[in-house]
This record gives sequence, C-alpha cells and structure tokens, in this order.
Amino acid sequence: MKPDYQETSSRQFSDSQEGSSRLVVDSQEEASRFLPHYQEISSRLFAHYPELKCALNFRNPYELLVASRLSAQCTDKRVNIVCEELFRRWPTPEALARANLSDVESVVRPCGLYRMKSKDIVAMAKMLEQRGIPDTLEGFLELPGVGRKIANLLMGELYDAPGVIVADTHCIRLSNRLGLVKNTKDPLKVEMALRKIVPPQESMRFCHALVHHGRECCDARKPRCEECFLQDLCKEYVTKDR
Ligand code: SF4
Repeated sequence: MKPDYQETSSRQFSDSQEGSSRLVVDSQEEASRFLPHYQEISSRLFAHYPELKCALNFRNPYELLVASRLSAQCTDKRVNIVCEELFRRWPTPEALARANLSDVESVVRPCGLYRMKSKDIVAMAKMLEQRGIPDTLEGFLELPGVGRKIANLLMGELYDAPGVIVADTHCIRLSNRLGLVKNTKDPLKVEMALRKIVPPQESMRFCHALVHHGRECCDARKPRCEECFLQDLCKEYVTKDR
C-alpha cells in the first residue's frame, strides 16, 4: 500500500496541471495540503545531508557580504579562492572602501562580471563603513548589488532569522521539479510560495539541503534520477513519460 504522502503527492501533481501559470501553492489553506509532501521531502533531505552549512567561506559578516555578491554566476569554490586574496589585501570594509577600483577588478576578475561586482563591493564597503552591518532584510537590500537572495542568505546565516528562503538557482529548479511550485522561475514567487509551506525554524536548513541535492544529484541538465532518494516524491520523475 502506498504511504499517504504518495497519494497526496499524486493528487497535488494532477491538481497542479490545471492552469499553466498558477503557483501550486497560493494560499495558506492550500499550503497546509502540501505539508505532508514537504515533510517527507525535507525529512529525507535532512537525513541524507546531516551536516549542512553555507558553501561560502567567511569569518565575519563583511566577508559573507562580499563573497555572496561575488557568487552571482560563479561557483562557490572559485569565490572562496578569490576571496582569500581579496580579504588578505582588504581585510575590513574600511580598507576596501579606500581600495583602488582597478586593483579590486584585477583580483575579482576570475569570478566573472568583475567590473560590476568590483564597483558594487567597493560601494558596499563605503556604506558599511558609514552605517555598519545591517540587521534587517530591508537594511541589506539598500546595499549595492544586494537582492533578495543575498539579503535572505545574510539574515539566515548571520542572525539565524526564521522564515528566510534563499531562492537561488538550485532552490528554484528543485522546487519546480519536486512540485512545490509550478512552472515559475521567478525567484520572488518561489520565495513566497515556499514561505507558506516551509516551517520558519527550518527554512535555512531546507534551502541548504536543496543546494546540496542540486549539486550532488539533481543537476540542471542531467539529473541522476535513477540514483535519487526523492524519486517517488518528484513531480518531474513521476509524471515523466518513460
Ligand atoms: S528524481 Fe530526478 S528530477 Fe526529481 S529530484 Fe531526483 S534527480 Fe531531481
């Protein structure tokens, strides 16, 4: 006999095929129907990835801010390498605020988009020097180059804030494949839909778990579905013609 969550999942997947642009979850009432599905997914993810932490190396809020800005369209591994040199030369916001922009560009270059990223982190350092490290989502959003994804990450990592959803590429891809949202790549829609489903106290852990699973198994181009422990819960897999 199928466990309940599978029946719930199948019903949700077929419901979700009505209407092509509707989010799967767009009300709190609807969100409660998704809880068993979410709970089974999260408990397997947490069991499989017991040690979850941010893949960016940092020793203080300044370093995480800079590293997260450099991570756009770049691997965390490369950002960590670049940041070793960056923080050796400019270890504080005060030092980076006074740096020569072309010197910063030469260090940041391997991360790609280096002109914009360098401009942003120097401008960010100037604001940090004046205002200190923000302690609200809105405060982070005022910094140059910081969008909701980074602001949520910072609130979660630095302040353990409940309810943060980091809608990065892995989170968006897996949320769609697993049937937690429907056909939307809009980060804000994914964030808002997941906020309704994911218990606030485990939201950061869940986002880290999605990143790990995205990297280890659910690749964007070639997901390794035959090895995946979420196969029976996955809308993409369950509804695919084979
Ligand atoms: S079954 Fe495939 S598509 Fe679904 S989560 Fe696993 S790897 Fe990704």
